[in-house]
Amino acid sequence: MTAAEWTALDARYVWHPYTQHATAPLPVPIVRAEGARLHTADGRVLLDAISSWWVTLHGHCHPAIADAIAEQSRTLEQVIFAGCTHEPAARLAAELVNVLPPGLTRVFFSDDGSTAVEVAVKAALQFWRNRDEPRPLLAAIEHAYHGDTFGAMSVSARGTFTDPFADRLWAVERLPDPVDGDTVAALRALIDRRGSELAALIVEPLLLGAGGMRMWPEHTLRALAECCAKGHVLLIADEVLTGFGRTGPLFACARAGVAPDIMCLSKGLTGGALPLGATVTTERIFEGFRSHDRLQTLFHGHSYTANPVACAAGRASLALLDADSARNREAIERAHREHLAQLASHPRVRRTRVLGTVAALDIDGEDGYLSTVGGELAAFALRNGVLLRPLGNVVYVLPPFCTTPDELAVIYRVIERFLERR
Ligand SMILES: *Cc1c(COP(=O)(O)O)cnc(C)c1O
Repeated sequence: MTAAEWTALDARYVWHPYTQHATAPLPVPIVRAEGARLHTADGRVLLDAISSWWVTLHGHCHPAIADAIAEQSRTLEQVIFAGCTHEPAARLAAELVNVLPPGLTRVFFSDDGSTAVEVAVKAALQFWRNRDEPRPLLAAIEHAYHGDTFGAMSVSARGTFTDPFADRLWAVERLPDPVDGDTVAALRALIDRRGSELAALIVEPLLLGAGGMRMWPEHTLRALAECCAKGHVLLIADEVLTGFGRTGPLFACARAGVAPDIMCLSKGLTGGALPLGATVTTERIFEGFRSHDRLQTLFHGHSYTANPVACAAGRASLALLDADSARNREAIERAHREHLAQLASHPRVRRTRVLGTVAALDIDGEDGYLSTVGGELAAFALRNGVLLRPLGNVVYVLPPFCTTPDELAVIYRVIERFLERR
């Protein structure tokens, strides 16, 4: 089938995510990828500067992950995970626990970041209920993004994404975002007022991703963790974006020396090759569900929970996070800093920032996700061989770890040329 034929099928039959089909440019037909490069149907090459929505970790089509997937899919492709188990899940769980911050010892698998958050929130609420100390409240941070299902939307910031459902989302205690506000003081005040009703605080450690790539300090994360521990409030770390080396160290919590009660993982968990989520808890949380009373069970599961092929991809990806990968991540961070130092003085650029392999800047002008400058930059970058997807006026570069300094130079050159254009 020719590309013209199958893109016509797409236009006729497919509904794309986060896409306004009345106005969006046609989707870019991609036929192949390797490393940081995507190949289009018309023979062009694009640098994937956003890790294909923040998932691709080591690079596209990594042979070690591809081999693991091929082998596993010929051995055991899927089996029910309630009442059955398999080696890829058991070994991936053990290997995750081995690299996670201390105390996180129980892995609940699911499908994606949103489900990892749903499981975390349900586990936190039911944990207290199982103890006969029901705590109905959850706290979350302004500008947070935790996913698109209802529970995840509820703990996310209210705004463009959630407006159509506003009256169906449960109320959450909202703390000011740590970039501009005093989150710690707000949490202290909340715990003083209603601590015995507060089940958990959920945070995106050190990096509010979809809320505008807002980076916040390690000492604030430590202070929030201390507050939670003192106030007997559970801390949920949503590392769906920050996990697996994005911020430099393997986890943002590790970077800050914080051990949460519950951690959500997805995106890079399989190196970006297959969907998989995990919610990892402490033994204390797990014990809070072990009981002869069947009503204390966590009644949650998905058809594809711990899919063996996805778990095999996860194991292969984890093995690739070695010393070489750490050096690549450091090289990316250095390159980010050099390029942003150049861009920082540009009159249209505000708030340049770097956290490990993630770099961001704001383009002066209209703020917010619906700002049009992001779309203009994305279109310009596409014409110039780079895949970018700004969040409104927030431009970020979040490349796979195989991206070379030369490739980063190309990406930044395109951003610079766009800024020079008018
Ligand atoms: C992307 C993201 C999610 C949602 O993950 P999906 O796999 O898209 O459902 C949750 N939390 C954070 C921090 C994310 O960046």
